[in-house]
Amino acid sequence: MIGVVGAGGDVTGCLESLEATPGVEKAVRISAPYKFVSKEFRKERTIIKVGRAEIGGDEFITMAGPCSVESEKQIMETAEAVAAAGATILRGGAFKPRTSPYDFQGMEGEGLKLLAKAREATGLAVITEVMSDRDVDLVAEYADILQIGARNMQNFALLKVLGRCGRPIMLKRGLSATIKELLMSAEYIVAHGNPQVMLCERGIRTFETATRNTCDISAVPVLNELTHLPVIIDPSHAAGKRSLVPALAKAAVAVGADGMIVEVHPCPEKAVSDGAQSLTIEGFREMMRTLRGYRELWKQEREAEMPLAV
Ligand code: PEP
Ligand code: MN
Repeated sequence: MIGVVGAGGDVTGCLESLEATPGVEKAVRISAPYKFVSKEFRKERTIIKVGRAEIGGDEFITMAGPCSVESEKQIMETAEAVAAAGATILRGGAFKPRTSPYDFQGMEGEGLKLLAKAREATGLAVITEVMSDRDVDLVAEYADILQIGARNMQNFALLKVLGRCGRPIMLKRGLSATIKELLMSAEYIVAHGNPQVMLCERGIRTFETATRNTCDISAVPVLNELTHLPVIIDPSHAAGKRSLVPALAKAAVAVGADGMIVEVHPCPEKAVSDGAQSLTIEGFREMMRTLRGYRELWKQEREAEMPLAV
């Protein structure tokens, strides 16, 4: 399959002569402004393999861990607990985008080393945020997936560098970004050479104040119609409140997301960031138990949809 991007010219004539070329089965005009990430370009789901996980495959994926890496003890304890409860990917921020310059900014390089140590001990793959184009090579050295935070969704200099970082990317939807803008940002990464992109709905800013953000659950079926990229839900940042996380996680499974990313902390009241929305280890275990039946149904549905490999 060859994608031709660019605007203008005699598109119809071009399509006809392409179709007349030997070896060409079909030429398809892609009308969406996001070409590579569109369903028109590729019908099959993109599957991203990291460690034991296949994101976009036939398992609902769970990424879990603290908002920030705080200490060796904290990350090791959390990693072991979330792995035992069924997560396959460990989250933890080493570079933290904080609203206030006086808040904890992350352990940076030391945090990355601790994440790598936790991967070593548990076999979990690691996802962590990269905030600046200058840090991409460093973070890519330690992480299995690079997370692009909501505040950086349209940092185009960063998106371009991600095109050649050699790691899968999880691109979080901006606080006030439309679905089209999210897809255009994903297009930047793919157009610059990296097709391994997953999208993350983490709640958007609305007039509602009962939750930290409004979880746009319809973004999942909308994205599933428009793109072949995997879609992850972040119920923690959407809710902002621990008690709401399990219900939104259930919704993520039911609505057909490919996975979720959840904040878990051994002692949320002492967390340096996002303690109010972090599940305790026991809370996470309990949620994973409750989700088991839902995930089974999810799997049946996904398997029915996927052609059997011969
Ligand atoms: C996070 O994952 O801790 C985070 C800062 O997320 P977001 O970019 O969605 O706010
Ligand atoms: Mn957080």
